Amino acid sequence: MATINKCIENLLFYAKENLFLCPEDITYARNQLYELFKVSHSYEFADKADLQDDILNPMIEYAINNGIIERSQALLFETKIMGLVTPSPGLTVSEFNRIAEEYNIQKATEYLYKLAVNSNYIKMRDIKKNIRWLTKGPRGEVGITINLAKPEKDPKQVLAEKEQSDQGKYPKCALCLENLGYSGSLTHPARQTLRYIPITLNGEDWHLQYSPFVYYDEHCIALSDKHVPMKIDENAFARLLDFVSCFPHYFMGSNADLPIVGGSILSHDHYQGGKKVLPMFFRPLKKKYRSPDGVTVGIRDWYNSVVHISSKNKFKVLDCAAKVLKKWQGYSNEKIGILCYTDAPHNTITPIASINNYREYCLDLILRNNRTDDKHPYGIYHPTEDMHNIKKEGIGLIEAMGLFILPGRLKSEINEMINVLTADSIDFKKLNDSPSLSKHMGIIAQLANDLGKGADKKAARNAIIEYINKTCIKILECTAVFKDTKEGETAFDAFMNSLNL
Ligand SMILES: [Zn+2]
Repeated sequence: MATINKCIENLLFYAKENLFLCPEDITYARNQLYELFKVSHSYEFADKADLQDDILNPMIEYAINNGIIERSQALLFETKIMGLVTPSPGLTVSEFNRIAEEYNIQKATEYLYKLAVNSNYIKMRDIKKNIRWLTKGPRGEVGITINLAKPEKDPKQVLAEKEQSDQGKYPKCALCLENLGYSGSLTHPARQTLRYIPITLNGEDWHLQYSPFVYYDEHCIALSDKHVPMKIDENAFARLLDFVSCFPHYFMGSNADLPIVGGSILSHDHYQGGKKVLPMFFRPLKKKYRSPDGVTVGIRDWYNSVVHISSKNKFKVLDCAAKVLKKWQGYSNEKIGILCYTDAPHNTITPIASINNYREYCLDLILRNNRTDDKHPYGIYHPTEDMHNIKKEGIGLIEAMGLFILPGRLKSEINEMINVLTADSIDFKKLNDSPSLSKHMGIIAQLANDLGKGADKKAARNAIIEYINKTCIKILECTAVFKDTKEGETAFDAFMNSLNL
């Protein structure tokens, strides 16, 4: 095993090559590392080495063996080490601006993204272990990822957190500005390697950073500098359009501002963007409507209810979108079960801004409703309970656009289900008592029936994957407020005509 001093030199060499750390900062970081590991100088030649296996893992072992940290602090400590060799937040902003000025904004985001990956802020090695595939449905492809890193969140927990007081907490939430450089705790991630750049959206101070979870290419987040709750209104549309004006190679969308149909954090206003790779972007319009000069208004041929607006003129797009929102917020249609208000407002929108190939501003407005009733305690436009074994969380922006992020537990549960389906007989009583399998009784019973006794492994796996594929398509269809029926189509059409654009 390399000595700790050798690890330090190899880390500094890595930082010079991959994090663009300048000579002055290298000398400075070396002394910080000596202090951290309580070692004195001993001259070592640096080598090119694997960051995780040859540098960080031995450093962590050294720290544990020498009483510097407890094993439970390993991940926090690793981030601390990387924070010492990552260019400072201020330097990162200057460098980003220099590249944007000398080259272009795309090259500047490439720099910021590379820094996020190479500093281990994005743990690409873990993300590559996620299981991904595509499935084809009646309205185009849908992406599915079993995400091994992100914890599963119950919609009721999201609501509880929204109502929880942030008083006295530091940082107030995982999205707050003061996470920059925060050392973290066992319940809050360390953020010494977080880097972001300030941006101005609709005249307000926001900042842009990458998501450590990378659900899709260059998955980034725009966050308000202030800890204020999510709110879908005309200002939100204006901010999204401002963003894509500055970053035309990215889309930017917002989760809806109500529980069940929103994302996992409602307490801090933020948007999600990145490369325009999500399946919804590839779908054409199935119907166009008469609209003001130079503005296209139509319905996307997609699983849920999407109003698409595009024009070269940003203000005309904004104006149309504001009308759609206002109309939708007050829209009820008892015949098809849409009620905009009972004890609270239910209608909201998941908006997504982008620039299309004709260099037009686009807003896709996914119409949402979060009402619940006795038959649908989790939401009328939400997966029903028989689908919660696959996905229980709120169906946010990313899923609504056709990329499913499924909980990591499914990886081992699929293997357990394969074992059950390939066995000679199935003990349903035993399954019912199993914490990991009892929720999958529905799939197991159906597939056992379809496959027959003692299916082979490959057939069992394929059948389970096919079941998941169909469920994801069904979940998307659940989120449609105007269903894909004659009745739903007529109502959607009437809604569009009532906009008086
Ligand atoms: Zn916050």
